[in-house]
Amino acid sequence: MSRVLVIGCGGVANVAIRKCCQVSEVFTELCIASRTKSKCDKLAAELEGKTATKITTAQVDADKVEEVVALIKSYQPDLVMNIALPYQDLTIMDACLECGVNYMDTANYEPEDIEEPEWKAAYEKRCKEKGFSAYFDYTWQWAYREKFEKAGLTALLGCGFDPGVTQAYCAYAKKHEFDTIDTIDILDCNGGDHGYPFATNFNPEVNLREVSAPGSYWEDGHWVEIPAMSIKREYNFDQVGEKDMYLLHHEEIESLAENIPEVKRIRFFMTFGQSYLTHMKCLENVGMLSTTPIEFEGQQIVPIKFLKALLPDPASLGPRTHGKTNIGCIFTGKKDGKDKTYYIYNVCDHQECYKEVASQAISYTTGVPAMCGALMLLTGKWTEKGVHTVEEFDPDPFLDALDKYGLPRSENHNPVLVD
Ligand code: NDP
Repeated sequence: MSRVLVIGCGGVANVAIRKCCQVSEVFTELCIASRTKSKCDKLAAELEGKTATKITTAQVDADKVEEVVALIKSYQPDLVMNIALPYQDLTIMDACLECGVNYMDTANYEPEDIEEPEWKAAYEKRCKEKGFSAYFDYTWQWAYREKFEKAGLTALLGCGFDPGVTQAYCAYAKKHEFDTIDTIDILDCNGGDHGYPFATNFNPEVNLREVSAPGSYWEDGHWVEIPAMSIKREYNFDQVGEKDMYLLHHEEIESLAENIPEVKRIRFFMTFGQSYLTHMKCLENVGMLSTTPIEFEGQQIVPIKFLKALLPDPASLGPRTHGKTNIGCIFTGKKDGKDKTYYIYNVCDHQECYKEVASQAISYTTGVPAMCGALMLLTGKWTEKGVHTVEEFDPDPFLDALDKYGLPRSENHNPVLVD
């Protein structure tokens, strides 16, 4: 029995909400609130009569703490699920603290305006101190640790697939398979084809910022940064086949390095087709990925926001995407004094997802873990107070929930390693 406030009603939120509605015995009441209320109303209408969960909707601009506070005070939820954009993480966390309610999200904070002086100064300091230049990092949200702890509240960060399930896989490997882990390679493969020459599978702005940034990995206690897309490997993925993959910076590397300190190297690879990379490079070269506003015919426009308006809506890719995703982690390490390797991953079929929740697998593989993370908090399986990432909690009930609700794990105790 719980009341949950979901903020955001995009591709990922649509899946998370539909999955919550399959578990009505826990998610008894849901309020879907977003900037554009009509999207919330549309989803609520689609779910009417199909679930026992009682759904209401609301309008909120989550950039404004006072609006989120007012909404929380009027709805009185047990948990706020932030499935809007990373830009809203801090305002929603502030509102949760003010109202005394638990918080979760699917991506760590980054600012919408990277020219904002206070943020920029902190960013430049962090780049020098830590040695990676991604716009997103955990420092902003980790700064809330003491506040959440003192308030007796939990903030669960990054509970999608990657970040999210990948960290639960690491916690699982550490708990059941290894005494010590030496290396972790996170492999994110999308073998899906939507038939467009160029489209992004989730929010284009967030996606293109991530992919066009320099790559980095953790090695021997420090970050190694490399030019974007400069480390390429091929891997033969179960049920997908041979794909090119590239080393990217990814947020879970930062928290894993802190929480599994014995690990000597952590890398993240994502697959991309040549068409995607050629389009992205061209758009970057002509300035279309810029987040800095320009003057155009008397109006200020942000190039990447304009590009977003031109690209297919990720939510519309569902019916046209065929193929599978395969996301997981390969570990090397030691058990009982012997060297050991282990691969744990999930394979998800785009068309199966579409049949079930009218969405492609990228939103599905993010929305299902968001629901399962909420389930852990609401059913008292994860109770640690403070601000935490997924690997800090018991992986067993979470992976069991994923097995049950659509993202079952596969294992390989003799995987091909990535060189
Ligand atoms: P979408 O762009 O599809 O949806 C974002 C939603 O947030 C929209 O409903 C949007 O409203 C709403 N929103 C934006 N700004 C505000 C605001 N100021 N106040 C209230 N609502 C707002 O994004 P996705 O669903 O693709 O992604 C959602 C989140 O999931 C992102 O943070 C993304 O980074 C994360 N993600 C995480 C992954 C993981 O594995 N961990 C993988 C993929 C995504 P409107 O309709 O008005 O635009």
